[in-house]
Amino acid sequence: MKDTYRHQGQRKSLIKILRSKGIQDTKVLNAINTIPRHWFIPAEFESYAYQDNAFPIDSGQTISQPYTVAYQTELLDIKPGDRILEIGTGSGYQAAILCSLGATLYSIERIKELHIQAGELLNKLNLNANLILGDGTKGAKEFAPYDKIIVTAGAPHIPTNYVKQLKTGGAIVIPVGKTQASQKMILAIKQADGSIKHEVKGDFKFVPLLGEQGWKT
Ligand code: SAM
Repeated sequence: MKDTYRHQGQRKSLIKILRSKGIQDTKVLNAINTIPRHWFIPAEFESYAYQDNAFPIDSGQTISQPYTVAYQTELLDIKPGDRILEIGTGSGYQAAILCSLGATLYSIERIKELHIQAGELLNKLNLNANLILGDGTKGAKEFAPYDKIIVTAGAPHIPTNYVKQLKTGGAIVIPVGKTQASQKMILAIKQADGSIKHEVKGDFKFVPLLGEQGWKT
């Protein structure tokens, strides 16, 4: 797999677009400038890889729009060594960004084909993520507690498992919607008494979070 001057130039243009849309965190922008997004999308879309768009990947899923990846990552305010749980590994692109920011990452995907492909790509980039195959609405209590949890599929509500598996003061970034058609991004912080306080951010459109504490179909 190649990463040419042309790709690097396209990433620089993408960074300008993300800045113009309000992304300010230079660590996040540097990570996006480093990771070859064109490796994570099907070959037929390679020439579009640095447009600010979501694209279909295998198994009827999507790789999130770069703006969405940047927005969720900026909200998480990743510090090196943060223990992060990601739900929805998908292509592995968001996972690559989190690892390159120094996170200790646990990422769950329910579709085996995507779980395997993402692992291969992250290995090629020498990024060390702990990938888990299964229903991410259950979280992964064997590796808890987490500093932060990021959900990259649209949920009907915040699964209680995530709140239980989060450290006090920790954050969950999750798109939540009353229907599968659209979501509001929620930033939820766990309080000392175990409850959460949340802020409602912008509007987004994700594929559904399916599972025991997600959508049923
Ligand atoms: N983060 C991904 C990336 O960088 O490409 C984008 C993820 S895509 C928008 C959402 C992913 O969530 C899909 O791959 C889907 O299979 C996965 N998903 C949906 N419900 C899930 C669940 N209960 N557990 C784990 N993964 C789930």
